[in-house]
Amino acid sequence: MARTKTKSNPYQPYIDALRKKQHQLLDSFERDKAAGNALPDDGIQDLADKAASAYSKELNFSLSDTERNLLMQIEEAFNRIKDDAFGKCSNCGNIIGEKRLQAVPWTPYCIDCQELQEKGLLG
Ligand SMILES: [Zn+2]
Repeated sequence: MARTKTKSNPYQPYIDALRKKQHQLLDSFERDKAAGNALPDDGIQDLADKAASAYSKELNFSLSDTERNLLMQIEEAFNRIKDDAFGKCSNCGNIIGEKRLQAVPWTPYCIDCQELQEKGLLG
């Protein structure tokens, strides 16, 4: 891994945790894919496009809803880190507790809003 940024990032532990989880999810997908047919590597541009769409279709079939949701939440968490909005509840804007972020760094909600969401009272 190349290190392009040397300035210390307060989000780094969460970034590491998010990457680790993302890799776990994608690794199980990659293993499934490796067991199937490999795509021919003949360098045609058009084929690369097809491969890209096949990849996401395959990804859709190989992962459960929960795993897909988690991957989406992880990506959104990375976006929040970029936007400097990480750690704030996407619903009420309150700061999400540090312990909660350590346990589930991809969560978009504070504990209160998470409860509301689970009861179907959010949005
Ligand atoms: Zn909230």
